[in-house]
Amino acid sequence: IPVECFDLVIFGGTGDLARRKILPGLFRRFLAGQMPENARVIGAARSEMEDADYRQMVREAVAEFGGTEKENGSQLDAFLERLHYVAIDATGDGGWDKLAGLMRDGVIRAFYFSVGPSLFGALAERLHQHGIADAASRIVVEKPFGHDLASAQELNATLAAHFDEHQIYRIDHYLGKETVQNLMAVRFGNVLFEPLWNSHYIDHIQITVAETVGVGGRGSYYDKSGAMRDMVQNHLMQLLCLIAMEPPSIYDADTVRDEKLKVIRALQPVEPHQIVRGQYDASSEGPSYREDAENPRSFTESFVAMKCHIANWRWAKVPFYLRTGKRMKARSSEIAVVFKDLGHTIFEGDTARHRNILSIRLQPNEGMDLQVTIKEPGPGGMRLVDVPLDMTFADALGADQEAPDAYERLIMDVIRGNQTLFMRGDEVEAAWAWTDPIIKGWEARNDVPKLYEVGSAGPDDALMLMHRDGRRWREIK
Ligand code: NAD
Repeated sequence: IPVECFDLVIFGGTGDLARRKILPGLFRRFLAGQMPENARVIGAARSEMEDADYRQMVREAVAEFGGTEKENGSQLDAFLERLHYVAIDATGDGGWDKLAGLMRDGVIRAFYFSVGPSLFGALAERLHQHGIADAASRIVVEKPFGHDLASAQELNATLAAHFDEHQIYRIDHYLGKETVQNLMAVRFGNVLFEPLWNSHYIDHIQITVAETVGVGGRGSYYDKSGAMRDMVQNHLMQLLCLIAMEPPSIYDADTVRDEKLKVIRALQPVEPHQIVRGQYDASSEGPSYREDAENPRSFTESFVAMKCHIANWRWAKVPFYLRTGKRMKARSSEIAVVFKDLGHTIFEGDTARHRNILSIRLQPNEGMDLQVTIKEPGPGGMRLVDVPLDMTFADALGADQEAPDAYERLIMDVIRGNQTLFMRGDEVEAAWAWTDPIIKGWEARNDVPKLYEVGSAGPDDALMLMHRDGRRWREIK
């Protein structure tokens, strides 16, 4: 279904994110017929270039990162026709009049701030000074949204000086994943799950986001950030919120976000013994974090594992185990809802510990399955086996179209004016209010991260975090 006509300006339109995600994503939406006839994309960045040069740059980016087999030359040409370029320095005065001249009346105006957060204030101010943004315009901002509570508050105040909250779209691309939305459909669209979704039936919940990449070229940025700020404060907490929130009364942006906010506010402080920081060390599979980050004395964590609790009626005494790390044995992100053991088995000789586990996989293969116990087929008597029940149903639904990737979906949501899958300012602040004391505690104690080998499942202490509770992490594969 095509969205309404729009002018989308990408500040930082020549940057890595624009070339890898935003522009190839827009091309895929174009191929899917979702971009209306007269919609336009305007790249804006510091370098001087003509429309033709910009189109050539995007052509190359689509060839490299397009990720679709359907593209063909003539469609790419038609897409590139929609692209324009304006040289603008966010902190200067050049280029703004040209941009103002390009913008059309009567179409949606969206501005993607794909630049560092230090430029958000300058961009917001100039958009207003030059009369380019109006009350119906939208701005999209990227992570990182601050590096602590104070800086996030400052950033929110800067944006609020020029835009209302309903105009601000804070991206967390994890929320744009198909499976994350399917999780809400499964939870709130079936009678089967919600009655079990509490401390009576759920033993614990695990969230793992394991990456195989290291800090690569981002070393100097990452070294000041670390896994807690880069992954936990945003992505893992967003997933935690969707799993743990109360059913919203309607599926609407503010109602959903109100419920997520309540989860963050109910998170208890994490004690030092409930959290493990790690840093990857050289192995036969690659160099150490310190070499990658070019900081031989770095104490920055590239891994975090923690146990947390949500202090409310539904989740009393149910632990949530979170872990994320770089340079781990496999690229794998999963939420696992592990239900309680049967109290009693009626099947003689069956000593296995059968458990229902709902597994929500975010990557590499998005999908959802429910582990159930059934009789092993055949004449062997009453022998039980655990099998996964596929809840993605791609075949049943005839999902011949490739699911749009997270960025594509989220950009289209911006044009539609749907903020459900974007973080609200108060959510981000609440998340920082919870993470700040953890990080400040490490700093005050000069905490030294535990080493783990490149290609492993993280430090041994992280395994112990669950073992001492008589539980174990799901395998990373
Ligand atoms: P980048 O350095 O590759 O690109 C930055 C872009 O901003 C370039 O187009 C540059 O010309 C432009 N720019 C810089 N200073 C400017 C100025 N004064 N005026 C106008 N334009 C200016 O950065 P990136 O990797 O594309 O990241 C952009 C933003 O997105 C950052 O906030 C980053 O944290 C965030 N982000 C990036 C990724 C990613 O995968 N690259 C992922 C998540 C978030």
